[in-house]
Amino acid sequence: MLNKAPHVAVAMRTIRTVHAISTWSRALHRQGVTIGMVPTMGAFHAGHLALIRAARRSCEAVVVSVFVNPRQFGRGEDVSRYPRRLRSDAALCAREGVDVLFAPTQEGMYPPGFEASVSVRSLARRWEGECRPGHFEGVATVVTKLLSLVRPEIVFFGQKDFQQTLVVKRLVEDLNPGTRMVVLPTVRDPDGLALSSRNPRLTPAERRAAPVLCAALQAGREAIRSGIRSGSRIRKMMHQVVSGERLAQVDYLAVCDPSTLEPRPRLTGTVVLLGAIRLGRTRLIDNLLVRT
Ligand code: AMP
Repeated sequence: MLNKAPHVAVAMRTIRTVHAISTWSRALHRQGVTIGMVPTMGAFHAGHLALIRAARRSCEAVVVSVFVNPRQFGRGEDVSRYPRRLRSDAALCAREGVDVLFAPTQEGMYPPGFEASVSVRSLARRWEGECRPGHFEGVATVVTKLLSLVRPEIVFFGQKDFQQTLVVKRLVEDLNPGTRMVVLPTVRDPDGLALSSRNPRLTPAERRAAPVLCAALQAGREAIRSGIRSGSRIRKMMHQVVSGERLAQVDYLAVCDPSTLEPRPRLTGTVVLLGAIRLGRTRLIDNLLVRT
């Protein structure tokens, strides 16, 4: 069993069933070990590793889940195209000192007859929720199930998926799973592109075009810093940047309240700039928090 901090490296376990993970977490809870959890869909990049390292630093035991959750894919989105690299993900987890890699099967997570669903209504309505109907219900349901199984002290998420962080924060506050949530900054490539498991699917031309999303958000941020306080002006400026890139199609670019995600006509306090674009068959999202 695990020792208390400092972490003592033991061989990583891969657990594939909900029964085995809840047995494992029950045993650790009995010993008073603090568990940190990083929920993912796998195909790791440096963004995932930053979350895993933060969990490793602050918790005695670390669980990373890899589950490509079919329920969070919207209509017309092909879950079978999502990259799967469990073997190399497991090697990375082992190298980072993860204690348990939880990689359940779809049937294990959603056995026949599964019917429950968690929804966080108003925060899930706009932006990603509108472009991907059912997405956040899928996210909220799987996160609730993972938190019930593992009961981590701390669960780690990335700011990259800003709306997701608000949805999960809400469900943690409303349903009291006994977990604290930590959100870590977005990890980017040197040209600004936010790392994503979807990026390797970009063609070389699309990859060259991809930083336009971050560039648009940065232009919005600069405009705010220069004193512009009209939300619609900022939005137009961001659209202008993306329209310079012929491969990119905008799903949305928005200037919002960072707690409600409602659009902000006049900017005060902190705002979040949200964006989603499509490049061929790949969809990219990004965001920046800006203080006015
Ligand atoms: P995913 O595997 O894409 O579902 O992501 C798993 C976790 O990693 C989520 O909390 C994401 O927000 C986070 N994440 C994804 N990309 C990044 C990134 N570029 N920087 C930081 N965290 C990220």
